Parts: sequence; C-alpha cells; structure tokens
Amino acid sequence: MEKCRKQKYFLQVFGCQMNVHDAEKLAGVLEKMGYSRAATAEEADLILLNTCCVRENAENRLYGHLGNLKPLKINKPDLMIGVGGCMAQLPSVRAKIEADYPYIDLLFSAFNLHQIPELIMKIRETGSRILEVPSEGQIIEDLPVTRNSPFQAWVTVIYGCNNFCTYCIVPYVRGREQSRRPEKIMEEIRGLAMAGVKEVTLLGQNVNSYGLDFPAEERKDFADLLAAINRIDGITRIRFQTSHPKDLSDKLIRQMATAEKVCEHLHLPLQAGSDKILKLMNRKYTRDDYLRLVEKLRAQIPNLALTTDLIVGFPGEEEADFRDTLDLVEKIGFDAAFTFAYSPRVGTQAAKMTNQVSEGDKMDRLYRLIEVVNKQAKAANQRLEGMVETILVEGPSPKKKEIYTGRTRSNKLVLFAPPETAGDLIGKEFKVKIKKGLTYTLQGELIK
Ligand code: SF4
Repeated sequence: MEKCRKQKYFLQVFGCQMNVHDAEKLAGVLEKMGYSRAATAEEADLILLNTCCVRENAENRLYGHLGNLKPLKINKPDLMIGVGGCMAQLPSVRAKIEADYPYIDLLFSAFNLHQIPELIMKIRETGSRILEVPSEGQIIEDLPVTRNSPFQAWVTVIYGCNNFCTYCIVPYVRGREQSRRPEKIMEEIRGLAMAGVKEVTLLGQNVNSYGLDFPAEERKDFADLLAAINRIDGITRIRFQTSHPKDLSDKLIRQMATAEKVCEHLHLPLQAGSDKILKLMNRKYTRDDYLRLVEKLRAQIPNLALTTDLIVGFPGEEEADFRDTLDLVEKIGFDAAFTFAYSPRVGTQAAKMTNQVSEGDKMDRLYRLIEVVNKQAKAANQRLEGMVETILVEGPSPKKKEIYTGRTRSNKLVLFAPPETAGDLIGKEFKVKIKKGLTYTLQGELIK
C-alpha cells in the first residue's frame, strides 16, 4: 500500500517587506493545515504567488511567471495554483487571469489570508475556481506565522495608506490606514522576545501615522509605541519603515533620540527635490520642509544614517527640476538611496498626466543621480574606517560562504571573516573594527 504523502506548498514572493511578511503568514497558515514546505515548484501540490504591483512591468512579469507554471499543471492536474498580493486586486489582472489562465484556481489578497484553508478545501471539493478577492477588510490578529529568521522579525503595526501620492498604486490595493491595537503589537513582540528574537522591524506603508485612526481619548501614536517596545526585555534593536516626511513629528524624533534600542537609521523617502514636482506628486511637503527635518534629526541623533527613495523623470520634470533634486541630494548627503526612473502605474493619477518625460532624458538623469548618490554612500562608509561598530551577525554571505555578514545599528552591511567556531556567531551581537568603506558595504574585522 502506498504511504500517504504529506502535501507540500511552494511560495513565490515579489515586492516589499510587507509582502514578504504576508508570505510568512501564508506559510504559517498552510503549515497549520498540515502542508510542509517544498524545495521547488516541481514537487509542490500547492503553489501560491504573492505579487507586487509597484515594480515596473509587474503585470507582464506576472503573466510570464504564470506561463512558466502551465507545464507543471499539465504534468500534475491536481496541482493547485493561487495568486495573491496587490496584483490580484487589480480588476484588469483578475479579468485576464479569468479569461486566459484557466489553470489558476485561486485569487486572494492580504485581506483574506485567514480564509485560505477554507478556500483551498472548497476548490478541492467542488473543482471550481475562486476568483473573488476582497478589496478591504478588518485586521485579522493571531494568524500563525512561519518566520524566516529566528532572531530578526517583521511586525506590521499599520495597514493601508491614506496618502494617494499620484504615482503610487498602493492606496488603491491596500486600502485605508488601519492601525493594529498596541496591546496586540506588544503581545506579539513579547512573544518574539521570549522565542529569542533580538531585532524587530515595525512595518507599515506609513508608520508615522500609526494610531491616528484611534479615537482621541485612547490615542497612542508611533512615538508612544516605540517607547513601549523599548521597554521589552530581550529586544535589543528596533527598526521601522516606511516614514512619510510630512508625518515625522518632533515627538517622534525625540523618542528616536532617547529610546536606546531604536537604531540610528531612518529611511525617509524624499522622491524629488523640486517643489513643483513634489506638488505634482502630492507629497505634501516642500524641499525646505524636508531640509529642516533633516537638520532636526541630525541635531538630536548625530550618528543617524539617512537613506531615501528618489524618482527621476516624473511627468513634467524639466532639467531645472532635476537639478533641484541633485542640489538637495548634494546638500543633504544620504548614506544610500534607492533611485528609480519614473514609469507609469495603470490606475494612478500620474499615469494620466500628458507631459511624460522621454526615456532618454529619464535614463540620462538617473545615471547622473546614481553617480552622486554612490559617491555620497562611499564617502559615508569611508568615514567609518577605523571605528568600532556593533553588528548583529546574520550568517554566511549568499555569494561567498566563507565570508560572514552582519548589520550595524545604522543598517550598514559589514562583511568579515569569521573565526573557526563561526556557527556560534549567528544571531548574536559583536563588535567589529571597520577596515574599509565601500559603496554598498563595509569590510570589518571581528574584535575578540
Ligand atoms: S505614502 Fe505615498 S508612496 Fe507611500 S504607500 Fe502611500 S501613496 Fe504610496
């Protein structure tokens, strides 16, 4: 008699940390159902894609991935395939999957992860597809989570976004802001600390507006939340992202400066340095506002590492606007920046703007910007040469197994040669002396 084989799942994840963390929840839900993780898509009985619609050409790339899965379904007709995440919430994608990809059984979103078990059962029982996706819903607490790391954890504190930056699709697919109750967040982080987690990263599209949706009489804002998490024993590092500059309050800056576990790193997306473009982007701050914020931050947190996101070639951007961006970047001096050439996202305001910038101009500006950003990043890293930093060791480098990596509190990646008993280092904090600062990494030496 053939032995009953455990069903296996395979997850393919695209996009931001929110999506990666949602996939940890998906894994938790599936493992609770009895599934185990498959090493490859070929050996899976269930394949779920958690998609992202922020990246360029996301839709075409999704169809490419779905096309690759077709032979698997032909070989194994019982294989179930589901698509979730932001793309599954776009009506155009849903319609195309319904019409052109009959082997996709299930669509789901971040709002119904908790219903995955019953959806899977229903499809198995009826043999019919489920392609309805909720576009809003309440926060679901206490989902099982299979975390990727035993010592670092992501914790969502706020879902959705109210900002409607004109280039961004997120508010249309992730809904309005909903903060998690502080007691549930604390309960989760206390549990993580007891399980050995050292570092938590608090997640939200805009963590700075945490708590603003609570009734005034019971309001706890993000600064209050940081203060409370700072008191949890066992947690040694607190990070968070993403922060909208317009909501970065003086109170929050004070809390970042005084709570000793809050790491000296802030990712503060600037996007553009021209007031005209910032207005067209609906960012609700000016270049002067941003500059003043940076001055305040640096006055109170002198060793703060500041990173950012920048978009060039937004509709209507002229050479003078781009020079404003270059000028502001040069004035501020970032530790690192994610740089993007604007590309329209269907369904956003900016996609409908008529004065799109030519591809040639976008690329020319992008390369000029990258040159400045890289120079700044290298200079910032070189300033650390000879200094002693505390790193949390993450493990062997994916590219070179004999080299280990760890992160400074300022979120810089340090590469170092481990001693013989390297296994003992992972997940622990050690001091390293920085020997060399490069553009993207630091080279260090472990201090015995
Ligand atoms: S703040 Fe702006 S860029 Fe960020 S998720 Fe919200 S709309 Fe998108």
